[in-house]
Amino acid sequence: MKILVAVKRVIDYNVQIRVKADNSGIETDNVKMSMNPPDENAVEEAIKLKTSGVVSEVVVVSIGLEKSQDTIRSAMAMGADRGILVKTDQMLDPLAVAKTLKAIVEKENPDMVLLGKQAIDYDCNQTGQMLSALLDWPQGCFVSRLGVKDQTITISREIDEGLEELEIQLPAVVTCDLRLNEPRFASLPNIMKAKKKPLDIISIDNLSVDTNSRVKYIKVEEPPVRKGGAMVADAKELIQKLKYEAKVI
Ligand code: AMP
Repeated sequence: MKILVAVKRVIDYNVQIRVKADNSGIETDNVKMSMNPPDENAVEEAIKLKTSGVVSEVVVVSIGLEKSQDTIRSAMAMGADRGILVKTDQMLDPLAVAKTLKAIVEKENPDMVLLGKQAIDYDCNQTGQMLSALLDWPQGCFVSRLGVKDQTITISREIDEGLEELEIQLPAVVTCDLRLNEPRFASLPNIMKAKKKPLDIISIDNLSVDTNSRVKYIKVEEPPVRKGGAMVADAKELIQKLKYEAKVI
């Protein structure tokens, strides 16, 4: 069985986000970038399946700038076998990313595509669902447990009422939740080994994918600065403040 894992290079989750001076987007110059956190869970799960003998090859794909190679190398240092960078300088909508991933799926023929449930930069939460529709493959989203048996996977996913358990036929698209596993840290020897693993670079222009943007970002703004909180002595004082100062009751 072969797994394709989609990993995105995003601003590191520990970084304090800054909005560009012209409000056109988020400042990414001189900012620490890392693998999107749920994508680390996707890589971890694929490697665990490989270690348990269910999967024979884990291929990692990232779509983006030349520097996305670092993200692919990080996944290979965790244990992925090889990587593909689809190079583009364009900022792509989830639909364009899904179309690009579809083109890679058609080249690689994996049994399963693992993605993160959401990229923390623009919080779209769309790519996996769109890819499943484009491929006409079943999908399991926000997965917090994954089991594989022959050509069937069993998954758990959190829904409002609790946990939903599903059985899905492969090939399938699965998007991973942070609860799925604890991603490993790559050891130094594995980081060194990852430098020698194969990484193909493809220009997005060679995939004949329509990457035209259908979403226009009008303006990005900082959230309003929060006012400091205050301690109250008792419920009576709280009611007074809500009634006469905040005027919300
Ligand atoms: P999104 O729909 O943008 O929230 O992204 C959901 C998931 O799609 C991410 O967690 C990644 O696994 C994958 N993905 C999104 N953009 C890219 C990209 N440029 N390259 C590779 N994978 C991506």
